[in-house]
Formats: sequence, structure tokens, C-alpha cells
Amino acid sequence: MKGWSGRLLWLDVTRRESKVVNYPAEWALMYLGGRGLAARIMWEYMKPGAEPLGPDNLLIFAIGPLSGLPGPSTGKLQVAAKSPLTGGYGDGNIGTLFSNEMRKAGLDAIVFSGASDKPVIINIEGTKVDFESADDLWGLDTWTTEERLRKRYGRFAGIVEIGPAGENLVKFATVISQEGRSGGRPGIGAVMGSKKIKAVVIRGSEKADLYDDKQYNVEAAKALIEIKNRPGYQFWMRQGTMYTIDWAQETSVLPAYNFDEGVFEGFKGIDGFTMESMKVDQRGCPNCNMQCGNVVLDREGVKSELDYENVALLGSNVGIDHLADAAYLNRIGDQVGYDTESLGTTLSWAIEASQAGLLKDYDGGHKLEWGDIKTLADVAYQIARRSTPLGNLLAEASSGACRKVGGCDFSMDVKGLGVSAYDCHAAPGMALAFATSPIGAHHKDAWVISWEVQNDRFAYSKEKAAKVIELQRIRGGLFESFTTCRLPWVEVGLSLDHYPLLLYYSTGVKYSWDDLYALGDRIYALMRAIWIREKGGWSRDYDMPPVKWFKKPLTKGPLAGAHLDYDKYNQLLDYYYDLRGWDHNGVPTRETLHRLGLDYVIPELEKYVRLG
Ligand code: SF4
Repeated sequence: MKGWSGRLLWLDVTRRESKVVNYPAEWALMYLGGRGLAARIMWEYMKPGAEPLGPDNLLIFAIGPLSGLPGPSTGKLQVAAKSPLTGGYGDGNIGTLFSNEMRKAGLDAIVFSGASDKPVIINIEGTKVDFESADDLWGLDTWTTEERLRKRYGRFAGIVEIGPAGENLVKFATVISQEGRSGGRPGIGAVMGSKKIKAVVIRGSEKADLYDDKQYNVEAAKALIEIKNRPGYQFWMRQGTMYTIDWAQETSVLPAYNFDEGVFEGFKGIDGFTMESMKVDQRGCPNCNMQCGNVVLDREGVKSELDYENVALLGSNVGIDHLADAAYLNRIGDQVGYDTESLGTTLSWAIEASQAGLLKDYDGGHKLEWGDIKTLADVAYQIARRSTPLGNLLAEASSGACRKVGGCDFSMDVKGLGVSAYDCHAAPGMALAFATSPIGAHHKDAWVISWEVQNDRFAYSKEKAAKVIELQRIRGGLFESFTTCRLPWVEVGLSLDHYPLLLYYSTGVKYSWDDLYALGDRIYALMRAIWIREKGGWSRDYDMPPVKWFKKPLTKGPLAGAHLDYDKYNQLLDYYYDLRGWDHNGVPTRETLHRLGLDYVIPELEKYVRLG
């Protein structure tokens, strides 16, 4: 095989044993890598019904046929597992040197099974594996951990780690690398913590074996030049995703006060221009020539790397109108090692719950207030360490906390995962994208909102459902499996036509766009099959957006009064299922599974659902 190594490294963490396994070539061809390969491995090897924080869960790291190579923003790693937050398929991508080193180690995936009884660092050199004590690192924040590991293993080693949040099994703990790089929103860091893996280090020395090196490099260079020549490139380099604050305010999708509103009176204090006036550094993922990590000093004078989602959710959504304060919460999140978006949706839920009197047994009678940065920062630390009853409650995220104390009607989540930073009172297409995202409410699979606000935004049309699927195929199916960053295409308009060529020169396999779309649909149907198996069935209720967007209309801004409509949303969901070839309950039909080459899941699914 070219472009793929065809090898995965299986690590039995309980026994501290490792073996290299040649996985079937068909898996590479049909699922590419990254998310697709992780889902295929999970279906094949994870014990159905595995406890997410138990030894039977599999933690999977995977790269794809473009990751770690030169080219447009290719330094990405996919981390996946059964999610302790949602109970279903979970993953996320991280921009990290780990991706490059995994490529050089000649590994397409690393699977961690079992669990250690003591904290470990797993040190991989090529395919040689050492399990080393992490006693001296356990309890340390991610930045200190990585700094110490870099002194030990070198500046260019691939390193990912967890912080106290992962160790303490916070349900939205992530895997962290290189200070600001964080991935695995649905608690993949907690899965790593449950296996007592503090960090994984990898170094490799193999040269990538590509089908046509020379042509690959020519095509990669063309793409990199095109990125720099795109009209939006210069502004992107100034603001990255932070330009979105002003746009979201203008279009009434900026979440404010736990998604009560889509506009925020203090938006100027947290927008891209304010960020520019405070910027002290710019950084990002490896192999990227449009780095979007804008760094400012937070209220304690410490560097914090920002993007739109964490600023909106830790700013306007919790009533904070100073960027240095939002940056402070964001930096705490990166250091303790959890998802800053879920921190935002959890804190905003907690404020609303506290003000409604639901947290009397937890807040000591001191109600949480919007914009109270000092208290919110204290709570953020308490969550990471589960050090107080309130922190322990909120470590379950808003979706878990509300099941204990009430308030689920204002927990802004889908399938347990907090929605990312787009208010959908007046955006049914984006609501559908959140509701059908395969990991819970994340925008990465179908950021349809920008198209939607320009195209009949209040419609619940078949065209809108088709657009969501188109974006899910490309963003969630292909980019997550290539495994590369989608932003060169999304944000500066790099032509998608580079990608089949890059794939061809990497692997020697000619994929048409029809092939690639089918591949995206196959991965989607497989992820849904995993959900069905793990939930023991399926209902369309799982594909509903948060109740608040239906029941509590906007009260401010030009769209005051707007809210989602249940009947129309259900019609939109029907269009979506129909276009996907899924039945009325959101289960892929027998014919669809057959068409996508997924006959092997049918016998298992028949245990849980009646296939149409
Ligand atoms: S565009 Fe941003 S997120 Fe994407 S690879 Fe570059 S730095 Fe990372």
C-alpha cells in the first residue's frame, strides 16, 4: 500500500504489551483514515456496551492518507472512543506534531485497550513501546506536563497529554497538545484518564511511502500558494475565526446568556478588532500556512490562544464583555485539560440554574451571576478537580448535572454534548446540523449557518436538509478522514479539487467525487450504527435540538420573537432522513447499508431495531 502504512499499533495497557497489526487494505480504501478508520476499528473491536470509563473501551488515535505530509494544514490527529459524556461514538481532531511523528513511525492508528493501575507515559519510538512511570506528572497541568516531557524527549517529539480534568474523569475532558491544541470534546481526555495514561510520546524516522512523491509535492505546493493568494487571506491572518463575533452579532446568532439571546450588548469588548489590539503572538497547528491561533494576555497577564467558539461561549454566553476575562477562562480550560466550549455551556447553564434556585444545595446560597469572572474562574478550577460539590456536579456537564437537579429544559446540548457557539432560534438548518452531528452538538460537521443566513434563513426546506448533508459529507466525512483541517476550504476558499489529486498522488487510488461522497455517507452510517448498538436502539428524539430554541423566543435584537417550530423541524428532519436513506426513526435502511458496503453491521443492528 502507498499513502497508508496498513499498520496499526495495538497497546494492551493492562498487560503493558504491544503488537503491530496489519489491518485489511479494504478498510483503508473504504474509510480512508482518521475518523473513518477509528469508526471501523471501534465497530470491529470494541465490546458492545463497553463502559466508557472502563477497560473495555478503546481509545483510538488515527491519521489519514494526507495527514503528517506537506500540504494544506495537514498536521491533524483524530482521537476517538466511546464517549463518557454521550454514551455514543465520540471523537475530535487535534493539530499536533504527533500527527507528523505517527506518519514517520509508519502507523495509521494506535489503539489503547485495557487500563493501567498506575499513571503511565507511553513512549513510542517507531513501533518500539515503553510504558514509563508518570507518578511525577500525575496532577500537573497540561502545559507543565508537556514542558517537562519536551525536556526529556525533545522539541520535535509528538506529545499529547491530559491535565487534572482528564485524570478526574471530567466528562468533557479533552486530549491536549502544544498548549492551545485540544481535541475530543465528548470526553476523550476522560477515557485517556480512565486508562491512567498521562501522556503519549511518539517519534519516528521513516520516510513516507507515497505513490508519486514528486507530483504530490507539486500539488501540495500549488495548494499552499493558492491559500496565500486568496482574497480573504490577509484578513484571516489578522483575525482568524475571531471575525465571527461581529458577524454573529449582525446576524443574531451570537449566543448570549445561555442562548437566551442571539445578540450581546458588550460584543465590541470581545470582538476580532479588540483581539487585534491585544494580540501578542500567533500560532497554530503544524504544516499550516494560515495559522489561526491568536494569542492575547489574559487578566492575569498569561498567554491564552483564542478562537471564536471559546470566546463566544466564555464571553457573551456567560455575560462577559472583556476579552481578557474570556481569555482567562479559556486558558484555565487549556491548562486543566477540558473542552472550553463545554465549559461555556456548563457555566451558562449553572448560572441560569443557580438563579432559578436549583443549585441551593451546591452554591451555598450565593447565586452565580452573569459576568462574575472571579467566581466563574473558581468554579472552573473546582470542576477540573471535582473539589467541591458544585465542581463535582458540573464535571458531569450541563446534560449530566441537570439530570440530578433539574433544568434539562435549558441545558443547551444534543445527545449530552453542549452546542457550539451559534444560536439557532432563527436558524433551523444549523439546528438540524447540531442535532444530527455524529458526536453530539458540534459545528465541525456542518457549519451551515453562514450559507443559511444568506439563503431563506427561516425556511425548513428540503434544500436546507440537502445542504446540511452536503457539508456533513465534506467536513465530517472527508476532512475528518483525510485527516486534515477543513479551514483552508471553509475560510479562505481553497479549491476542493486539490484533494482528490493529493489523495491520488499519496495513495495511487483515483477517487471520483461520487466515490468520496459515498465514502462520507458510509462513515456517517457506520457512526450511526455504533450509536444504535451502544444505545440499544434509536429514536428520533435523539436528533432534536435543545428545547429552549423552541419554547423561549428571542427578546432582543432585530429578530426578537423568533423561535424554532416543532412541526416544521420534524418535517426538516424527515427530509434529512429521507435524503440519507434512513428510516422515520433515523436508522439507516437495509438497502442503504447494502449500497454503502455496510452489510456486515446488519446482523448486529437487527438485535436492536427493525431495519426497513
Ligand atoms: S487553520 Fe487553524 S485550526 Fe486549521 S490547521 Fe491551521 S492553525 Fe490549525
